This record gives sequence, C-alpha cells and structure tokens, in this order.
Amino acid sequence: MPKVILITGGSRGIGRSAAVLAGKRGWSVGVNYASNAAAADETVAAVIAAGGRAIAIEGDVSDEAALIAMFDATEKAFGKLDGVVNNAGIVAPGSALADMDIARMKRIFDINVLGAYLCAREAARRMSTSRGGRGGSLVNVSSAAARLGGPGEYVDYAGSKGAIDTLTIGLSKELGRDGVRVNAIRPGLIETEIHASGGKPDRAQTLGVQTPIGRPGTADEVGESIVWLLSDASSYVTGAILDVTGGR
Ligand code: NAP
Repeated sequence: MPKVILITGGSRGIGRSAAVLAGKRGWSVGVNYASNAAAADETVAAVIAAGGRAIAIEGDVSDEAALIAMFDATEKAFGKLDGVVNNAGIVAPGSALADMDIARMKRIFDINVLGAYLCAREAARRMSTSRGGRGGSLVNVSSAAARLGGPGEYVDYAGSKGAIDTLTIGLSKELGRDGVRVNAIRPGLIETEIHASGGKPDRAQTLGVQTPIGRPGTADEVGESIVWLLSDASSYVTGAILDVTGGR
C-alpha cells in the first residue's frame, strides 16, 4: 500500500536517496530541507519522476514551530503519516574536544539531538494508534561514530549520535503497543556532501578504502535500508540499530 512519509534533511545525500527510493514505490514524501531550496526542488522532481508524490518543506528541525509545521504540511498534502525518517544532521570541522567552543557544541546538540528528539516526539504524537494515528515506522539516522567515538575529529557529533541510539531503544519500547516501530540506521563512510561541510571533502573515499569491504558506501545503499525499515517487509523489526558501514 502506498505510504505517506516525511524525511527531515530529505533534499540531499542520504535523505534524498531515501526520498527517491520511496518515490519508486509510489509513496508520497515530505522533503524537508534547511536552506538549499534548489536542491529540494530537484529532489521533489526526482521523486515525482520515479513515480511518487512529493513536496519541499523548508524548516530547521531544531525550531519547534518549524518542525511541527513540516509535519502539518506533509499531512495536509498527503494525509496521515505512515513513516518518518529522522535524518537531518550536521558535523562541524574536525577538532579535538579541548579546542571546541560552546557555540559549535550547542549547534551540534541542538540540531542532532534536540531536533531529532522533537522529530521523534512529533512522530509519536501523529502515528500512535492511541492518539488517533494509524501506526507507522520511525527510522532514526545515527552514525557508526556513536560506537567509534570520533576521536580527534567529532566527539561532539559522535555523542549526539549516541543519543540517537538510546532514543531508538527507549522509544521502540514505549511505542511497541501503539503500532509504531522505531529503528535506527548507523551509516559508516558514505559519499555525500556532509564531509565537505566538515572541511574534508575526500574523507569518505580516503577512509572508505580501509573498511573491510574496501570502499565508501553510496547514499543509495543507505537509502535502501531506510526504505526497508519504513516498509511492511520489516514488520517484526523494532528497536534495531542496523550498521550500514561496509563492516567498519
Ligand atoms: P548532507 O549530504 O550534508 O545532507 C544534509 C541534509 O540535511 C540536507 O538536506 C540539509 O538541507 C539538511 N539539513 C541540515 N541541517 C538541517 C536542519 N537544521 N534542519 C533541517 N534540515 C537540515 O548529509 P548526509 O551525509 O546525507 O547525512 C544525513 C544523515 O546521515 C545525518 O544525520 C548524518 O549525521 C548521517 N550520517 C552520514 C554519514 C556520511 O558518511 N555521509 C555517516 C554517518 C551518519 P540543506 O541542503 O538545505 O542544507
């Protein structure tokens, strides 16, 4: 059955791949983005070309009003939600913790933790059967950094993703009887523009060759896992944290 889903940070990278793969299944997708409207419009066109329906929705996930508005816009366009991909996340340039200032750490935790928790809260409110929803699937996008720790580069980011793993464990238990499955994906070194935003555009390629599989992953390889967790094919999977890391 066609599904209605919202993807935070759905306009580029991993979120974009999940959106287009959802479109291939004929699903309807709210494509959230922060500021790059051109990329969001291109992704919407790609979802529609793939066979789905889509709208672009601007909004910062760490802004509560904007986050609620992106859920409202998706439900207004397509009806009640069946799935949410809690994907928006950022890194900052690599640095030792001793050299990080508070503004950087606040921004990482605001977007990656508070934004993700607000998104999960809203997903719980909308999809829980006891609250009038029709059940569904929440997919949280964590990172292998949650278990590797990000030393010398991103211990702030790694900690923010540790919170996502813990959220997944707790919320999956909280919502099990409410028809909502909650799982996480932990991507490894995936070729997207996030590495350039952290000051190392070649990071996925350089480190990816050191993984057991011997190369970085593609956004589509992560997107496939996300769409599987959204789909009914994973109906008995909840509370799982799936590494998509080439064995790293
Ligand atoms: P990306 O290519 O940098 O894309 C980021 C997306 O998130 C864009 O659509 C961006 O919108 C949006 N975004 C950024 N800040 C936002 C905010 N405050 N509110 C709403 N949307 C926001 O990133 P990616 O590599 O696909 O990463 C997606 C997720 O996977 C993140 O949670 C990341 O931590 C995780 N991850 C990635 C890797 C990897 O190697 N790539 C590895 C592990 C985990 P704009 O275009 O408007 O800025």
